[in-house]
Amino acid sequence: MSTKELERLTLHEGHDLLRRGEITSQELTQTILERIQAVDGRVQAYLRTTPELALEQARQADRRISENRRRGQHFSPLLGIPMAIKDVICTRGVETTCGSKILQGFVPPYDATAWARLRQAGAVLLGKTNSDEFAMGSSTENSGYFTTHNPWDLGRVPGGSSGGSAAALAAGECTYALGSDTGGSVRHPASLCGVVGLRPTYGRVSRYGLVAFASSLDQIGPITRDVTDCALVLGSMAGHDPQDATSLPDPVPDYRRALIPEVRGLRLGVAEEYLEVGGGMESGVGTTVRQAIARLEELGAEIVPISLPHTRYALPTYYLIATAEASANLARYDGVKYGFSYPAEDIWESYRRTRGLGFGAEVKRRIVLGTYALSAGYYDAYYLKAQKVRTLIKQDFDQAFQRCHALLAPTSPVVAFRIGERVNNPLQMYLADIYVLAQPLAGLPSISIPCGFSEELPVGLQIIGPPLGEEIILRVAYAYEQATPWHSMAPPLEAQREEEVP
Ligand code: GLN
Repeated sequence: MSTKELERLTLHEGHDLLRRGEITSQELTQTILERIQAVDGRVQAYLRTTPELALEQARQADRRISENRRRGQHFSPLLGIPMAIKDVICTRGVETTCGSKILQGFVPPYDATAWARLRQAGAVLLGKTNSDEFAMGSSTENSGYFTTHNPWDLGRVPGGSSGGSAAALAAGECTYALGSDTGGSVRHPASLCGVVGLRPTYGRVSRYGLVAFASSLDQIGPITRDVTDCALVLGSMAGHDPQDATSLPDPVPDYRRALIPEVRGLRLGVAEEYLEVGGGMESGVGTTVRQAIARLEELGAEIVPISLPHTRYALPTYYLIATAEASANLARYDGVKYGFSYPAEDIWESYRRTRGLGFGAEVKRRIVLGTYALSAGYYDAYYLKAQKVRTLIKQDFDQAFQRCHALLAPTSPVVAFRIGERVNNPLQMYLADIYVLAQPLAGLPSISIPCGFSEELPVGLQIIGPPLGEEIILRVAYAYEQATPWHSMAPPLEAQREEEVP
C-alpha cells in the first residue's frame, strides 16, 4: 500500500488492514506524522502535535493487536488508529489552550471523558487542533495563534470553530478528529472542508473535560471521512457519565447496525425557511442542496414540506443565550487558577492585565454582551425573552417530527469564504451559522455530509433528527453516501503552489 493511500484511509479501512496484519499502527501513525510534517506548514491545522506520545500509543496498540489476532479475537475499530482532538477538549499531560493566549501553558491533570473512552479503546493521539478562541467563531480566524487554511483552497477559511480538526482530516493529517459544537462548530467546518461531522443529542456525549463555552449548548462530536466512521466514533464515546450531570442515562445503541442503505418508507421534512435564497444564501449552495434532496427522493424517501416559523429568531436567541452562559463560564480565567498570568502589584491590576492581554477581541465582545444580557435591568428583556423563544424554536421541531422521521437542510449558506473577508464584520460572521444554530437550542442531533460542490468548493447537506435520533440521521446519511461519490473526493492540496497561499 502506498503512502498516499494510507493517509486517506477511513477508520474502518484502517481497522481492516490492521486486523488482517497488512499494516501496523506504527506504520500508519508514522506515515501520517510525515504527512503533517509535509503539509501542515501550509494548512496550519495543528496547534501542537504529540509525535512521541503517538508513536508510543501506536507501539502499545500493535502489541494489543497482535495479542488479539493470536487469540482470534475481535478488537475495537479505534485500536491503533491515529486521530486529532480540538484544543478545547482536555487531554491529560498535553497542553490545552482553547486557541486562547489566556490558557497558554495549561496542562490538564485529567482527560475529558470522551477522550478517555477513545484512549481506552486504543486511539492514537496525533495532536491538538486549532480552533477559534474558546470555540467562538466560524472560521478559526479568532484563534489567538493563527488561522487554519482550507485544504480545498488555501486562501479560504476551513469554517469553524473546529476548523483545525476538519482541515486536518481533509488534508490527510489524521484519520478522524473530534470537534465541539455549541452552535454549529462541528457541522460548519465539516461542510466547508467536505467531510462528515455530527453533533449528538444534548447529553449523549459527556461534556466532562470539554472546556465550557455555553454549557446548555456544548456537545463533543466526531469529524470523519464517512458515515460509517462517524457511527463508530460516536458509539465509542457516547453514554452516561457520572461526572456530567447533564449526560443522558439512555443505553447507547450499536450505531453501525443502523447503517442500512435504504430510505424507502422514510418521511424527510424540508423547511422552506432553510432554503430561501437571499438573506445570504448562495445560489450555488441552494442548487446543490436541492439536488441532494431530489437524490434522496429518487432513492425512495418521501419529501414532506414543513415549516419552522421561528427559524429566523434562532440567530439572536443563540447569541443572547450563548454569550450569557459564556460570560459566566469565562469568569474563571483570572490569571490565578489557570494558564497565563500577568504579574502586577495588586490583584485587581493583575486580573485586568491578564484578561486584557489574554482574551482576544471576539471573546471580550461576547463577555460584554453576555454580561449585559444578564444584568439586572436587562435580564427580562433579553435573557429571559431569549429562553422563551428557545422554547418556541423547540416546539417548531417537535411539531415537524410528528410528521417526519428527519429533516433536510443546508449546513452553511455559503461555501468556504476568503480569509479576511468576514473577520471584521461580526454580524456577517454570525450569519455563516444561520442554519446550524437552531438544533443546539433545541438539543437535537444533526449531521453534515458532503453533497457536492459549488464554485469547486464543498457543500454540506444537513440531516436533523429528533432527540436521540442519531440512528435515523446516520441511516439517511449512509444511504445518501452510498449512492453518491462526494465523500471519497480529496482536495487538490498538492496542486496549490506555495506562492498562491496568502
Ligand atoms: N460560530 C458559532 C459561534 O461563534 C458557533 C460556535 C460553536 O459551535 N462553538 O458561537
